[in-house]
Amino acid sequence: MENINDVLILPMVAARGVVVLPGVTETIDVGRAMSLAALDYATENHLDLFIATQKDTEIVVPFKEDIYTAGTIVKIKQMIKLPNNLARIIVYGKQSAVIKNYKDNAKFFEVEVEPVNYINTDTIETEVLLRKVMGLAKQYIVMSGRNTERLPEFSDDANVFANRLATQIIPGEKNKQVLLEQMDTEKRLLEFCGMIAHEIEIAKIDKIIAQKVKTQIDKSQKEYYLREQMRAISDELGEGEDERNAIEKKIKDAHMPEQVEQKAMAELKRLLKMGSSTPDANVSRTYIDWLCDIKWDTFTSDNKDMKKAREILDEDHFGMEKIKQRVLEYLAVMNLTQKNKAPILCFVGPPGVGKTSIVKSIARALDRKYVRMSLGGLRDEAELRGHRRTYVGAIPGKIIYLLKQAGCMNPVFLFDEIDKMASDYKGDPTSAMLEVLDPEQNNSFVDHYMEVPVDLSKVLFVATANDMGSIPAPLLDRMEIIELSGYTDIEKLNIAKQFLLPKQKEMHGLEDKCVSVTDDGIDEIICHYTRESGVRNLEREIATVCRKSALEILEHGKESITVDKQDVEKYLGAIKYRDETIGKKDEVGSVTGLAWTPVGGTVLTIDVTLFKGKGDILLTGQLGDVMKESARTAISLVRTLAPKYGIKADVFDKTDIHVHVPEGAVPKDGPSAGVTMATAILSAFANVPVSKQVAMTGEITLRGKVLPIGGLKEKTLAAYRMGIKKVIIPNDNAKDIEEIPAEVREKLQIVLAEEISTVFEHALVKK
Ligand code: ADP
Repeated sequence: MENINDVLILPMVAARGVVVLPGVTETIDVGRAMSLAALDYATENHLDLFIATQKDTEIVVPFKEDIYTAGTIVKIKQMIKLPNNLARIIVYGKQSAVIKNYKDNAKFFEVEVEPVNYINTDTIETEVLLRKVMGLAKQYIVMSGRNTERLPEFSDDANVFANRLATQIIPGEKNKQVLLEQMDTEKRLLEFCGMIAHEIEIAKIDKIIAQKVKTQIDKSQKEYYLREQMRAISDELGEGEDERNAIEKKIKDAHMPEQVEQKAMAELKRLLKMGSSTPDANVSRTYIDWLCDIKWDTFTSDNKDMKKAREILDEDHFGMEKIKQRVLEYLAVMNLTQKNKAPILCFVGPPGVGKTSIVKSIARALDRKYVRMSLGGLRDEAELRGHRRTYVGAIPGKIIYLLKQAGCMNPVFLFDEIDKMASDYKGDPTSAMLEVLDPEQNNSFVDHYMEVPVDLSKVLFVATANDMGSIPAPLLDRMEIIELSGYTDIEKLNIAKQFLLPKQKEMHGLEDKCVSVTDDGIDEIICHYTRESGVRNLEREIATVCRKSALEILEHGKESITVDKQDVEKYLGAIKYRDETIGKKDEVGSVTGLAWTPVGGTVLTIDVTLFKGKGDILLTGQLGDVMKESARTAISLVRTLAPKYGIKADVFDKTDIHVHVPEGAVPKDGPSAGVTMATAILSAFANVPVSKQVAMTGEITLRGKVLPIGGLKEKTLAAYRMGIKKVIIPNDNAKDIEEIPAEVREKLQIVLAEEISTVFEHALVKK
């Protein structure tokens, strides 16, 4: 033991189940990455280590509050690296110390510690107490039958001696922590006497019990013997009774429905019949805990004030007028009928358009709790409904888990990405979802683990999806679809100014700092750093700007930062997306089409090349069956129309056609590329270039009719984003034009085509 007096800064290891006392040599196994990092740091820098003990050994990733403040400065005497990233260290406790401060260190705990010294070390009382300790220790050794054990050598230092003795004979880290924290030698010796006396009592009782048990057992039944011994111990300590009372109270306090309470009580009875530390008993206890953890009778009360609800929706989101209106109507009906029987709302649209966040707003507007479950990639029904208790390590499904997390029976429950659910041999999650979402059935949802019906009828379920087409039909049937579409640049600018920038400033601690991005700056980010329907990447880029500004403010002491158009590059690096059409030459056989994808509209180029040959057709670019068929239709159509465009009829028999849709890795399908293919093929045969300013969409028939398509709004938004000037769309889609935002309509010339000839007329560059 040493007398250090200065405050030290040392790396710390949080020990589990071990307290190192000053003057004692201990072996500790270290496995957690944080602790290993602390260890490496100490050995590299020839530093001592600080060891403090965790209050709860179960905690795997401890926070400051989980660790005792008093610990020991130790010298690392030896370190052995073991396999599997473990290290075994032998340490010697130098002195007690107290943590004064945690340093900011993300790799390991680094602490400022103040050493503390023992007081009252050399008084008469100390000597008397030390003798008492010696006497009791000898008595304990005899009583416990550990008479082979040698007491530590008597040391001059009463505290060192007591510490070594305590390490040897006192079980459990709690007692040792008490000794570690007590710096008054008289008091600690007295406390130590008490601890040894207690151990002597236990050893006595242990002996009596062993005696009792011995007479009862059948020698061949070893397992039975062990159980009996355990039961005898807990009877002696009155534990069985205590546990029964505690659990019974917990069950009563949980205010369960009658059927559930009966189940819980029956399980308690079963539990009491088992040996209390058998694996079965643990399964039983966990089950009862789950039953008690659901807040069976807690319902939050809804906000009924629709004016306030509207204010909240407006507060959280820009625009989206129709959507907000629809949501408010839904809430109003729910309010009046007091029932959740209305169809489940499902928000459908590309990523980043605010589907998830509008659901959060609904919860806020209603004053309800909010929980979210992502269904992306979910294929196993058990994830929703849990495993039966007979499985090892079984737990309830996600629905019950989230209900417990919500802490009430009427939260807003979001099923995110309901279109991404898959099914396989482990069962189809769709059927479980159907049961959950069906108002006729969901008042008695049964989780495989819980085995009791749980009433989900008060939960407000809401779903989101990217692609309506991928939602299983029976589910779609139960839902009311609300479509959200991409934003125009002006809308994005407003969202960024009013929502994203203030939100990110707050998240980066810049609320009261003068950081601003000018409108031109935001426009620059929208046009040249993101290309998306929603605003998710935009938000990310703004976050980057905020992060870098935060560093500038702290590092260079800047008072205010304004990010204008020309500054954006400094924060976000080189431009990511250039304007597609600028500088591109009109080409023969290359046409821009418009496509709809679950992540928003996009443009897609179709290239056609001709070779000398014998009329073969080659289609490449991962085309789906429908798309292949429309390519063949397009070729036949062009063949029929050939004379009109000065193409000789026999040329088709002498030419091989290769149609390619680039970005080969992305599978593509759908009929709406028909007009694009026909135009590319005609352009190739007639050798007339197609304007790069034009994009088109539409299905074709063999007779040259242009048929309507879906997703017009998303497609035109994509054209507008890419800087296209003219879009050709089917005449039958005229009714959908009003859905296109005015801003886009102003910038794009929209041509309605009933016949393919109209398409050719507008797309081919006149010679
Ligand atoms: P989704 O669920 O559709 O993929 P999110 O709800 O996660 O998208 O939205 C991404 C981000 O964009 C969120 O921070 C959200 O608040 C913001 N956002 C989207 N639309 C709007 C809007 N109209 N007004 C304000 N913020 C919006």
